[in-house]
Amino acid sequence: MTMNGMICVACGKTAKPSTLRVDNSQVPGWECPCGEEYLDGAAVETLLSIKRLQKEHLVAKVTRQGNSYALRVPMEVVDAYHLKNRKELKIAPENHRIVFEVPT
Ligand SMILES: [Zn+2]
Repeated sequence: MTMNGMICVACGKTAKPSTLRVDNSQVPGWECPCGEEYLDGAAVETLLSIKRLQKEHLVAKVTRQGNSYALRVPMEVVDAYHLKNRKELKIAPENHRIVFEVPT
């Protein structure tokens, strides 16, 4: 496998990077001219972790830290989204929801 493509197991040609659909999500992978598709294994793992989280009752807790506030997020969420200390997330406010966008 290279950065630009991978050799197709079915036909031997080079499969090109592509965005594939799994359920209703987009997952990076490779697409061969013969029609074979290969999904990025790590991206599929992330997608499955997120699907598991959607079935759980998750709570984030607001805590005061000096003059600012921090949001404590469950470890399952940290792991599923590969969050790191001091990582910045874009905030997309919605009516009664706050959406945090995780850069890919
Ligand atoms: Zn092929």
